[in-house]
Amino acid sequence: MSNSLRSQTISPFILLIEDDKSVIASVKNNLAASGVLRNHLSACQSIKEATSFLEAHPEFAIILLDASLPDGMGLEGLKKLKAAFSDKIIIVLADNAHQYLGIDFIRTGAQDFILKEILDSKDIYPTIQFAVERVQLIQQEVVEKVSKIKQTNQQLYQDIFNQSKDAIYICNLEGRLVDFNQATFELFAFSEEELLEIEIHNLFHTKEKKREFLYALVANKSVTEFPMEIEQKNGKIRKCLISASMIRTAEFTGYSGLLRDITEQKKADGLRKARDIARQSAKMKEQFIANISHEMRTPMNAILGMSNLAMQTDLSKEQYSYVSSIKQSSEVLLGVVNDILVISEIQNSQLKFDYKFFDLNELLHNLMNLVQFKATEKGLKLSLQLKDGIPKIVQGDKLRLNQILYNLVLNGIKFTEKGGVNILVENQNESNDFVQLKFTIADTGIGIPSDKIDAIFETFTLIREQGMEQEGKGLGLPIAKNLVEQQGGKIGVKSELGSGSEFYFDLLFEIGEEVFPEPIQAKAAATLDKGAIRVLLVEDHKMNQLVAIKTLEKHWSDIEITVANDGQECVDILAKKDFDIILMDIQMPNMNGYEATGYIRHKMSPKKAEIPILAMTAHAHVAKNEKFREYGMDDCILKPFEPKELFRKITEYTFKYKVLT
Ligand code: ADP
Repeated sequence: MSNSLRSQTISPFILLIEDDKSVIASVKNNLAASGVLRNHLSACQSIKEATSFLEAHPEFAIILLDASLPDGMGLEGLKKLKAAFSDKIIIVLADNAHQYLGIDFIRTGAQDFILKEILDSKDIYPTIQFAVERVQLIQQEVVEKVSKIKQTNQQLYQDIFNQSKDAIYICNLEGRLVDFNQATFELFAFSEEELLEIEIHNLFHTKEKKREFLYALVANKSVTEFPMEIEQKNGKIRKCLISASMIRTAEFTGYSGLLRDITEQKKADGLRKARDIARQSAKMKEQFIANISHEMRTPMNAILGMSNLAMQTDLSKEQYSYVSSIKQSSEVLLGVVNDILVISEIQNSQLKFDYKFFDLNELLHNLMNLVQFKATEKGLKLSLQLKDGIPKIVQGDKLRLNQILYNLVLNGIKFTEKGGVNILVENQNESNDFVQLKFTIADTGIGIPSDKIDAIFETFTLIREQGMEQEGKGLGLPIAKNLVEQQGGKIGVKSELGSGSEFYFDLLFEIGEEVFPEPIQAKAAATLDKGAIRVLLVEDHKMNQLVAIKTLEKHWSDIEITVANDGQECVDILAKKDFDIILMDIQMPNMNGYEATGYIRHKMSPKKAEIPILAMTAHAHVAKNEKFREYGMDDCILKPFEPKELFRKITEYTFKYKVLT
């Protein structure tokens, strides 16, 4: 036994667990006789009692355990204690009856065991002393470990202090600094020396805020993330959050503070908010435009349809011209609605192109037919000039090309009073597969002033010189420009005031082979003539019901049309009666067109489930992105509808259904 241990002043406390009073007395006497530990001995009479005692007194590191306690006979008591207090040093006091368990006590975790019968101070002393030594060794290790951790922590704190992007400082209640890190003088934009000369609280804004902060700090001893504006040396303001803790010692009253600069974060938050609002409003605008367009197309379908029907009746010349004016004006209106839709798509970067093979010749001649009467009306000559090497079939976005040409030709007619408009198509470049076509639309009109020429492709540009009182909305050219450029082409204009303008653009097309489609129309028409077509018209708008019925009856005298006012009526009627085709509006009360189609396709008998369904909708986007197909509709007709297109599609689909299946 070393002297140093003997001389330790702090000895671990010992708990004796023993129910035999004579043994308790004997142990006490023996320990007293050994001259140490006298003051640190306590006794409990059962494992249960000892458990609560140890929980309340963790400083008792050594246990003397009787092996014949009623609640801890033999190994049981030792096992219970080890399970609850694994770090205690346990010495078993065994009577003769448990002497044979000696080796098992050690295996179960006891440091040693002593036979009660031969218990005396000579015997108990070394065992206890060894236990004390072990406890002290363990304690020493734990001290060493704590000091190492403290050292590491201190280094860590120092690193955090030095490298922190937040300003960390200690100052007195006036704001005079005692210690601060680099981020502090960076935040205030003063030099280290300058900062020591001033009271930083003078740079806290506003005065009221500063007072509020100091008041809260003194009252609550700490403050977290208090918003504070800091004025830099150059007068610039940084938005910060300040967290602080009071320091009060005999020599010093002040606080340690942490200032986090959130200026950039605030800016980013602001931008994000602005962006979200912009996105939201763009979305709302888009939705609004789509809805308005639908709401305008629905009555326009009635106006145009009724005008068409009226013009086929017996009218006087005067009446005919009135109705024809109504029709033309509504076509202009329809053009405006279409242009606004395209502009909205352009602004939302949603322009999509649909490249398919088409007959360029046919497109150009249809266009000529469409605008011819407008030219004739003004006494203008309209001509089309196709140079050599223009392929008949090309691949491109037919509708968009038509739109560009239409806008430019219509402008030509609009801004020309004498002479005419010529459309020239040239082949600029040709390979085996591709052709670059240049379209030039030249007029002999009023021309464009040279200082305005750069602006005319901008949205809503109208040139209003004296004597130019033409109607306009400033959408046609920006649309054309976007449609050309987003397909990789170039658009431009040459013009001379008073003698005319020349708009030109080029686009690349893939060259296609001419396919001769089966003359399905003729064959279908012949077959269909033999029996009446039975149409189920699903439409909630009364006027548009009338337009469709009258338009179809004019074309097919023996057509049978049944009207359903919504999707629900449609499926009810179809369940009872056979039809050859369904014309289905989409937006309807009770059951809409998509739902009705879904019901027919999935819930009805096989023959009925296959009936051709043509969507008839005033929703331009439904028609364009072919959304209707996802819902099982075969095709789509956009309202206001072109009667010829409606007849053609009814013929085609009815023929396929009636004859081919
Ligand atoms: P809109 O024709 O609806 O006014 P555009 O964007 O098509 O809108 O044209 C913008 C303006 O450019 C017109 O208002 C007109 O002043 C001028 N402009 C366009 N085409 C011609 C042309 N062929 N001749 C003279 N001026 C034209």
